[in-house]
Amino acid sequence: MRETEAVADARRYMEICNGCRYCEGFCAVFPAMELRREFAAADLSYLANLCHNCMGCFYACQYAPPHEFGVNVPRAFSLVRAESYEQYAWPAPLARAFQRNGVVVSLVAAASIALVLILVTALQSPEALYAAHPVLPGAFYAVIPLWIMQVLGLVTFLFALLALAMGGANFWRDTGAERVGAGAVLRALWDVLSLRNLGGGGHGCNDRDERFSMTRRWLHHAMFYGFFLCFAATCTGFVYHAFLGWHAPYPLLSAPVVLGTVGGVLLIVGTVGLFAMKLIGDPAPAARRLLGADVALLMLLALTSLTGLVLLALRGTGAMGIALAVHLGFILALFLLLPYSKMVHGVYRSLALLRNAAERRGVPENP
Ligand code: SF4
Ligand code: SF4
Repeated sequence: MRETEAVADARRYMEICNGCRYCEGFCAVFPAMELRREFAAADLSYLANLCHNCMGCFYACQYAPPHEFGVNVPRAFSLVRAESYEQYAWPAPLARAFQRNGVVVSLVAAASIALVLILVTALQSPEALYAAHPVLPGAFYAVIPLWIMQVLGLVTFLFALLALAMGGANFWRDTGAERVGAGAVLRALWDVLSLRNLGGGGHGCNDRDERFSMTRRWLHHAMFYGFFLCFAATCTGFVYHAFLGWHAPYPLLSAPVVLGTVGGVLLIVGTVGLFAMKLIGDPAPAARRLLGADVALLMLLALTSLTGLVLLALRGTGAMGIALAVHLGFILALFLLLPYSKMVHGVYRSLALLRNAAERRGVPENP
């Protein structure tokens, strides 16, 4: 991790916090801070990715602005986190995608939809795109050839997994690679699945102001589990197709459709809710220059889900072809942007929680 202005600010705040320690029961960050006397840039990267941005320490802080110390831990950590995404990105030349990330996400989404539409019109007759196909196995492939879906999907998804793994390895090495046991893995897994650090000191986040609330935690849960249900729907569809010879579109009560529908609704609720919270939230503890990237990703996730549900509703009509092409365009954009958008925070935050679980061995648990 490089020395930057954001890193220097975060270091100054941590040195003040390490003397104060008032917030040590709020989250995992402060107990982890207390294990350190000095804060190298890599330590600050670890602490910033451990922070879940609950804002609790900002509203509790007697040294927050307008105090002359101007302590603002959530904002400083947001900026350090954003810099860490760029610095750990793989391959390095693509790290530039994190600069003006909101614009990049929007352009990639638009280009992906255009690419799928161009491929469909170039390879299929216009009748195939606009015809009303009966909801029978193979109807989707009459619009978009199966091989295009497989090549685009597999190549981009496997590359995204590789890039995420390499970025995660860069984070782990930089913040001090160490061996972790099975106990730490299980503890970290629970912290990830329960979003424990969005619970504040037990009362929730300061979503909008100094009042505590669990809203952001539940919206984040809806987005997180909605995403995994959609992923489970895709995997189930793959198993149906590859191993059972059952071809999409599937019946309304089949596993891929039920998983995808429930996941899609949860994803829309979570992303739209989080978007609304960003609009009405107090700007004081937020890093407003990161808002564009956050909003672009939330909208990409929401529109990917929404177009999936629209496709479900339009099956068997003449609009199915366009709906399918647009939905696949959003999925392509999502795969392309997995390692080059705020989606990477899932990897770095999980690894920070794993490191924290290993560090916490023998240290008393927070309430
Ligand atoms: S954020 Fe403020 S109140 Fe909390 S530990 Fe740091 S200096 Fe103390
Ligand atoms: S998780 Fe909350 S309390 Fe902890 S450092 Fe981040 S903003 Fe502060």
